[in-house]
Amino acid sequence: MFNCKKCDNPGNIILRKKDLYCTECFKTNINHKFRACIGKNKILAKNENVLICLSGGQCSTVLLDLIKNGISLDNHKKLWITPVFFHLMGMRKESDDELIANALIKQCNHYDFNLYIGHISEYLLKNNNVQEINTLPQENNTLINKFNDLLSSMSVSSRNDFLSKVHRDMYVHFAKLLQCKYIFSGETLGTLASNLLTNLTIGRGSQVQYDVGFCDNRNEVRILRPMKDISQEEIDQYIQINQLSPASCISNNQENCLQTIIKNFVTDLQENYQATISTVCKTADKIGVGMKQCKKCKVCESDIGENSNKLSALEATNYSSSVSVGQQQLTSDSENFAHAMFPYINQSLCYTCSKMFSEMDDSNDVNLKQILLNK
Ligand SMILES: [Zn+2]
Ligand SMILES: [Zn+2]
Repeated sequence: MFNCKKCDNPGNIILRKKDLYCTECFKTNINHKFRACIGKNKILAKNENVLICLSGGQCSTVLLDLIKNGISLDNHKKLWITPVFFHLMGMRKESDDELIANALIKQCNHYDFNLYIGHISEYLLKNNNVQEINTLPQENNTLINKFNDLLSSMSVSSRNDFLSKVHRDMYVHFAKLLQCKYIFSGETLGTLASNLLTNLTIGRGSQVQYDVGFCDNRNEVRILRPMKDISQEEIDQYIQINQLSPASCISNNQENCLQTIIKNFVTDLQENYQATISTVCKTADKIGVGMKQCKKCKVCESDIGENSNKLSALEATNYSSSVSVGQQQLTSDSENFAHAMFPYINQSLCYTCSKMFSEMDDSNDVNLKQILLNK
C-alpha cells in the first residue's frame, strides 16, 4: 500500500494526491517526459544549436538540470543538442534584476555552462549585439527610461501581454545572433493553461496553438516547449529531491490584473482537477493553424486576416460604439471608424496588438510606435 507504483520499493513522493513514487522512479519519469516530448516531435537535427531561455525561476532551474542530465548521458537516451544559455534582464526592480542575473551566471557555471545576457529595453534598438559571456549588459538608462515610459502608458493587462510579445521577439532575435535555429522555453503545464485562458480572454484565440502548443513556428526560428507535460507539483518535488536552488524566488506578475486572476484560478484548479488542465492544453495543441501565406502582425507575428475576414470582436466593438454614440453613419463608415479605434488593424497588426497599440502613449518620444512598426 505504501510502495512505488512503478517498482514496488518503498515510495516517498505522492503526486495528484494518490500516485506514490520512489525517488528514482520519479526522477526517471520527469526525465522521460522531457525527452519524450522532444523525441516524439522529431524536429531537431543532431547537435543542433538550441537557445535555452532561463528566467532563474523554478521551471528554469529544472530545465537547466534536465538539459545537463540529458546531454551527459551516454546511451540511446542522450539529448543530442548544443545548448546556448540565455537570460533576459529588465523584468524586475533593478536591484533584484542584477542579483538574479548574477545568481544565474553562478548556477550555469556550476554546471559548466556559460550564460549570455540581454536587456529587454534593447527591443527598441534596431541593431544590438551579444555581450561577452557571463557578463551583465551595460546599462543604457536613456533606453531603459524610454521603454519604461512606453510600458507605463498601458493598462496592466495590456502591458503584460505586450511584455510576453517582447520576450518572444527578443528570444528570436538573440537566437539568430547566436546561430540557433531553435529555442527551448520552460513553460510547464500550469503556465500554458494560464496562457491559453489569457489568450482566449484578450482576443488572441486564433493564436492559441502558437502560444500553447509544443512548437511555435511563426518565425523561421522555432520555439519549442519541452516542459509542457510537467506539472507545478512535479517541479516542486524535483527541486526538493535534487536540492536545487532557483536563482530567483520573486514572481514578476504580482499586480492585480487579468493574468494574475487567471493564474490563481489555474493554480486552484491544479490542486483538485489536474486532469482538466492537461485535457485543456492537449486540446489546444491539436487545434490546427492553416499555413496559408498571409500577412503577419508586426508585433506578435501571427497571421492577420484579410479585410474581408472581419474579426467578430472588432465588429462587436464597432457596433456597440456606434450604438452608444448614436450616430448612424458610424456603422456605414465602420471601416474608417475601426481604423481610428484600432490603428493598423489587418494592415500591420492583429486585433489584440492593435488594441494594445491604441493604449500606448508615445508623446514623450515621437518615434516609438514607428520603431515597433518598422521592426
Ligand atoms: Zn520506484
Ligand atoms: Zn499581433
